[in-house]
Amino acid sequence: MKIGLKRSGVAILLVALLLAMAACGKNGNGNGSSAAGESGSEATASGDGKIKIGFSLDTLQEERWQKDRDLFKAAAEKLGATVDVQAANSDDAKQIAQAESLISQGVDVLVVVPHNAEATAAIVEKAHEAGIKVLAYDRLIKNSDVDLYVSFDNEKVGQMQAEAIVAKAPKGKYVYIGGSEADNNAHLFKKGAMDVLQKYIDSGDIQIVYDQWTKDWSPANALANMENALTANNNQIDAVIAANDGTAGGVVQALTAQGLAGKIPVSGQDAELAAAQRIVEGTQTMTVYKPIKSLAEKAAELAIKLAKGEDPGADKKVNNGKIDVPSVLLEPIAVTKDNIDSTIIADGFHSKEDVYKNAK
Ligand code: BGC
Repeated sequence: MKIGLKRSGVAILLVALLLAMAACGKNGNGNGSSAAGESGSEATASGDGKIKIGFSLDTLQEERWQKDRDLFKAAAEKLGATVDVQAANSDDAKQIAQAESLISQGVDVLVVVPHNAEATAAIVEKAHEAGIKVLAYDRLIKNSDVDLYVSFDNEKVGQMQAEAIVAKAPKGKYVYIGGSEADNNAHLFKKGAMDVLQKYIDSGDIQIVYDQWTKDWSPANALANMENALTANNNQIDAVIAANDGTAGGVVQALTAQGLAGKIPVSGQDAELAAAQRIVEGTQTMTVYKPIKSLAEKAAELAIKLAKGEDPGADKKVNNGKIDVPSVLLEPIAVTKDNIDSTIIADGFHSKEDVYKNAK
């Protein structure tokens, strides 16, 4: 009996010892959280020790967002992170659901291009509840505690558009074809443009005869708006400020139908290939080149810093209605026929062959 009791006591001790060893083994296995902690990246949720980035995009409709996706992914992977990309097709509910799913999959940081500057505040709140930081990519998330904003100087984009158009048409009837009202950038582009136009408006040299946002930045909506502007003014229009190349495409289509393409200056933005071709053909006056590679690389580097709990070292602050968001704003470049070779072509953004394909 006595011996029996002793034996079962030893057996219990042995089992306890084995359980304790197994628990130690789990933590000390090299790939788990303790290993990540040793290398300084305590936030790492994935088993392989890599930082996991969730990249939630509004849309992949414009050419630029495909570049953003590819360049961001390449830059993040080069820095040893993995990226899960989701695009919401301009649908707020879908963007929030996709972000929630990235959060529950355990990403270490979220990078968001918001479709709707206000609605995506819900994403920031949910991410923060899970201890995940959020970087607003190219477009600001308003009225939220978003951790970082990386973009271009968007008011300057609008200024460049207006300056280039005023240089061609210092007087006359102007049409403003804006971006999506839900996108904070659209407001910044408009503010920048209006800052330049104001003194001409005050002096009576320039009249804004039509001014509309373009729902979801859709070229088809821009085309319809431009048709309305032409009809309402008996085609008596002297200049068009279109907020990006997609909307400029719709504008040029409406002008072409009235035999006016190339006769009225039109602005744009993004240095899309179709816009670069229109510039050398003479149907679009300018575009704004925003080097996407620099944006993507900067955002990837800083997203990883956020994931590791490091200070991203942002040098600017932009108020989003709730807080002053630490921000990094890159410089845009105005492009016309005169400098297209030395900017977007020299940078390899598009090839000379592609840009001049249809030029006579
Ligand atoms: C971006 C532009 C883009 C537009 C439509 C804006 O927020 O800054 O580059 O053309 O969205 O996608």
